[in-house]
Amino acid sequence: MKHSKGRLNTICTHTGEVEDKQFRGAVSPLFMSSSYAFEGVDVKRYPRYFNTPNQEALCKKVAALEHTEAGLIFGSGMAAVSTALLAFLRAGDHVVLQNTLYGGTYNLINEEFDKFGIEYSFTDGLQVEDFEAKIKENTKVIYIETPSNPLLTITDLKAVATLAKKHNLVSMIDNTFASPVNQNPIDFGIDVVIHSATKYMGGHSDICAGAVASTTEHIDRIFQLAKNFGGSLSDYTVWLLERSMKTMGIRVRAQNENAQKMAEYLHQSKDVEKVYYPGLPSHPDHELAKSQMRGFGGMLSFELKSDIDAMDFQNALELIKPSMSLAGVESTVLSPTQTSHALMGEEERARQGIKDGLIRFSVGIEEVEDLIEDIEQAIAKVK
Ligand SMILES: *Cc1c(COP(=O)(O)O)cnc(C)c1O
Repeated sequence: MKHSKGRLNTICTHTGEVEDKQFRGAVSPLFMSSSYAFEGVDVKRYPRYFNTPNQEALCKKVAALEHTEAGLIFGSGMAAVSTALLAFLRAGDHVVLQNTLYGGTYNLINEEFDKFGIEYSFTDGLQVEDFEAKIKENTKVIYIETPSNPLLTITDLKAVATLAKKHNLVSMIDNTFASPVNQNPIDFGIDVVIHSATKYMGGHSDICAGAVASTTEHIDRIFQLAKNFGGSLSDYTVWLLERSMKTMGIRVRAQNENAQKMAEYLHQSKDVEKVYYPGLPSHPDHELAKSQMRGFGGMLSFELKSDIDAMDFQNALELIKPSMSLAGVESTVLSPTQTSHALMGEEERARQGIKDGLIRFSVGIEEVEDLIEDIEQAIAKVK
């Protein structure tokens, strides 16, 4: 595979690219055909078979970025999550899940798994003993997410991977928040890596996509279900995503740097109660994060002091936009209590430590001085 041995930004820019033999253009040509002539009996190219030239190009890039043999690109992050989970679970099986999961994943489990006869347990905490305590005779999969949403908790990749191997389980991670720039779970023994490519891979808040990376054997198993579920991504969007990913390395590194500076600024602010960012030495898992992440990511959360209303604060911001999604080049905020975790209910939120004054901050690539000025003017306005 061309360029797969390169370093981060070389892989982002080149790996997988389709050579334009006809005109020798600089980037992968876009192939929109939904119909291809047979290439022998084995190769039938068709968009829903995840094997068009552009789909294959991007699969190679994702695999190289996650240090795996193979990858698959889906129509959304949830298509990737649901297909990967269901590929390894059947009626009567059991899955152990981290208790702090992305809302959509939480809903998938709570709303759909009963129908499939799949049993599940959420952990009580994030220590490896919390995972081990939930393993049963019929457990097949352990599913984690680190750093987590919205409190940026850190789960020990190596400890969970070792536990999974000991019990002969498949370990899966939602690696969206870290992105492959900051964390490669495969290097710590995790089996299957999942991304919402809507986030850092796309990076411009204009693409909805998902990705899975693993061994050829695991990816083939996931593919067998994926082609029947039909959650492939249109070639046009695949091609746009390939373009977006060329700059993922430089974008995410800039976001790491900005988020670190914003976390340090917020940490010393007299209007902020608490900051959650794995890059701060005050984060309870800072050392663990350092041992498994190359950068601490562009996501952080903070609690405003109780005399500042979270909603008023968001509305007073001029540069930073309130937004449901995250990971774009533009900075956005949201109040989990009002939005992503509204349906969870007060009790469960309290159990997870999600306070009303909590603001989730997706730090973009703007100049950090402008972001600080915006926060300062918003606080001055609402106080
Ligand atoms: C957004 C997100 C998802 C779901 O991705 P979609 O592309 O919206 O389907 C899954 N996990 C995490 C951590 C996310 O942020």
